[in-house]
Amino acid sequence: MKVIEISNLNKIYNESEIQVQAVNNVTINFEEGEFTAIVGPSGSGKTTLLNMIGGLDEATSGEIKIAGHLMSSLKGAALTDFRLHNIGFVFQAYNLIPVLTAKENTEFVMRLQGKPAKECDARTTELLKAVGLGERMNARPAKLSGGQQQRVAVARALASKPKFVLADEPTANLDSKSTETLLDIMEKLNREENITFIFSTHDARVVKKARRIITLEDGKVLSDVFKNNRA
Ligand code: ADP
Ligand code: MG
Repeated sequence: MKVIEISNLNKIYNESEIQVQAVNNVTINFEEGEFTAIVGPSGSGKTTLLNMIGGLDEATSGEIKIAGHLMSSLKGAALTDFRLHNIGFVFQAYNLIPVLTAKENTEFVMRLQGKPAKECDARTTELLKAVGLGERMNARPAKLSGGQQQRVAVARALASKPKFVLADEPTANLDSKSTETLLDIMEKLNREENITFIFSTHDARVVKKARRIITLEDGKVLSDVFKNNRA
């Protein structure tokens, strides 16, 4: 089943006199259960594309449908609500809340969804242990390293069991052991809970794990390759 349908998508930034076409006529579909990497050099449009899929930025033209919903028709509270129940974000722009502990940050979206405290507690404890932060659950972000904060962000994105997770360079600040751990968690959730993962990356180790690799260049899809390595 197609979960995300993108057709003829364009994004043009108008900064003063200079126009930048960050996304150029992109047409791609994503099926439920995919584990897909978006790669390409810096400035190729990865972040812009993910932002538009997640409804964090509006397209200049073209269409994005998620589970049959046209993103451009969702505004304000309806858009927020849709994101809350469907999408997990691991984005630079979605930083951790400084006054909350790692556990509270992880629970945040589940709380917004109105999940019972006991369920929040069990799920977030399990996830934080899984990302190697079982001993740091009560630490605030300022007391955690960049890599540890990134792992909390991943745990938070996964806590609410979203239909799909969008991750913008999720392993960018991680050492190789943490990268390995994080990929294992993502693959497990993909396999066991059928959560669709779409992540941008520069990291060859992450690319290797992907089952589909979409390469962008100057905002265009340069190649779209399916592999046969379902873990
Ligand atoms: P990537 O994530 O692959 O590095 P981006 O999506 O961040 O690429 O950027 C794609 C292009 O759009 C780049 O040329 C970048 O400079 C430009 N760009 C991104 N965001 C903005 C913005 N808010 N305003 C103007 N130009 C932008
Ligand atoms: Mg980027």
